[in-house]
Amino acid sequence: MNYDSEPRHLLVRARGERSPLYGPEVEVHPDIPDFTRNIRADDPALGIPEDLVHSLTSWAMSRPPGGFASRPELRKHVKEGKEKTQLLAAHLGPAWVVRYWDEQHASAKFVCWGCRRLHWTLGAHGDPPHPLHIVVQASTGGTRFVRMGFEDFAPDDPAAALGLSGGLGR
Ligand SMILES: [Zn+2]
Repeated sequence: MNYDSEPRHLLVRARGERSPLYGPEVEVHPDIPDFTRNIRADDPALGIPEDLVHSLTSWAMSRPPGGFASRPELRKHVKEGKEKTQLLAAHLGPAWVVRYWDEQHASAKFVCWGCRRLHWTLGAHGDPPHPLHIVVQASTGGTRFVRMGFEDFAPDDPAAALGLSGGLGR
């Protein structure tokens, strides 16, 4: 993986073509309207596994030409597309910036390749993007007490919990 080269951009959106993958006309800071170039899901440059290629194309083809008339069906379609895009982003890794078009909200978000979260902006993670998991683990459960200044208590000490529940401690 080469972190020095600019990542490529990809938009996942079902809009009547067999492949829901779109590349931008401009590679630098492309905006949603720039994604006009349909890319085959089985394009060798992407190296997408066959089952995911199939899953992406069948998802794209399941959208009725005029869009969904029923709200629940649209919601289901959006959720499925999001899950497939998360798999795609995880497969492509940091060399690709993947966005997902949410048809229900008519907006696109960045899909993180590492934790599969959706972000409004590319820099939402900070830099470098992927110690996130470690940060999350360190701030859950008992570790939090230590950080909040309860160094004198074991994380499971009832006194620590008492202190948190409204000033009943000292
Ligand atoms: Zn992430």
